Amino acid sequence: MKVVRFHAPGDVRFEDAPEPEAGPGEVKIRVRNCSTCGTDVKISKFGHHHIHPPRVMGHEIAGEIVQVGDGVDGWSTGDRVQVIAAIPCGECAECERGRMTICPNQVSMGYHFEGGFAQYMVVPREVLKVDGLNRIPDGVSFAEASVAEPLACALNAQNLARVGEGDDVVVIGSGPIGCLHVRLARARGAARVFLVELSRQRLEMAADLVKPDAAICAGEVDPIEEVLRLTDGRGADVIITAAASGKAQEQAIQMAARQGRISFFGGLPKDNPTITCDSNLVHYRELMIVGANGSSPAHNAEALNLVATGAVPVADLITHRLPLESAIDAFGIVARGEAIKVTIEP
Ligand SMILES: [Zn+2]
Ligand SMILES: [Zn+2]
Repeated sequence: MKVVRFHAPGDVRFEDAPEPEAGPGEVKIRVRNCSTCGTDVKISKFGHHHIHPPRVMGHEIAGEIVQVGDGVDGWSTGDRVQVIAAIPCGECAECERGRMTICPNQVSMGYHFEGGFAQYMVVPREVLKVDGLNRIPDGVSFAEASVAEPLACALNAQNLARVGEGDDVVVIGSGPIGCLHVRLARARGAARVFLVELSRQRLEMAADLVKPDAAICAGEVDPIEEVLRLTDGRGADVIITAAASGKAQEQAIQMAARQGRISFFGGLPKDNPTITCDSNLVHYRELMIVGANGSSPAHNAEALNLVATGAVPVADLITHRLPLESAIDAFGIVARGEAIKVTIEP
């Protein structure tokens, strides 16, 4: 079969690999869609300390079951499924407390296990053990289902930041994740959603699709002043930084309303992870700053449901569909910000 495999930083190959078989406790799928994101770009350029090459990349996975291993109950060939990306152990102190996104033993598809940029993929028993294989609801396409994983990560962040009825929400960063955050905030009853982005071109591409109440180009105006102006000086109830930018995080703190919640959704480069925070703003305004680390199996199931009910449409966010041999070109499209979501159809 054909796969897209990481060999070394800057060396990702479209090549042949032996077709895998489902062992006991495993399920084999014919991959129908595996979507790309900024993480794939990062891996292709810099590698990752959890990836021991060669490794098939791809973690936003949807497909069809073609083989069910011994001892697997409840699944049959022909079932349409979505696969979680981050796999919690299900046994540690955090998992026992239901906090699966922060499992210290977490492993991931496309890192510790062969990923979805392949014609066939084995779903490891670790995924099945934690209910990480989800049935795709009727009416949801494979391409839409592959976007459930990033939507699940947005859902985790908005749960932690308690995005809800009547909130003014700012999303900083207008990539695919930013677009999902705008849509999800609306579905949760936000009063207004403002989208902030440095690049005018990227901002317009995203705003055309997700129609924020205001599209603020941070390359042209001061986003803090603009958010304060739009909120009569009050600030935003929730600010989500969907960009790997320390400056965006600093701006988020500055534009928060009293008791505002700030989600540091996007991580920072590991060689520059420090920001300046006016601690007195946090103290006197009772701000809450929360992180977000991926998603749990339950978040993935809920995300699929949000897509199925139409609460969070994702089909129009998929702007590019490419065959497997074009996956490496897809990373370039993502890196240059020319697309919202690029999905690969192996
Ligand atoms: Zn991703
Ligand atoms: Zn755990």
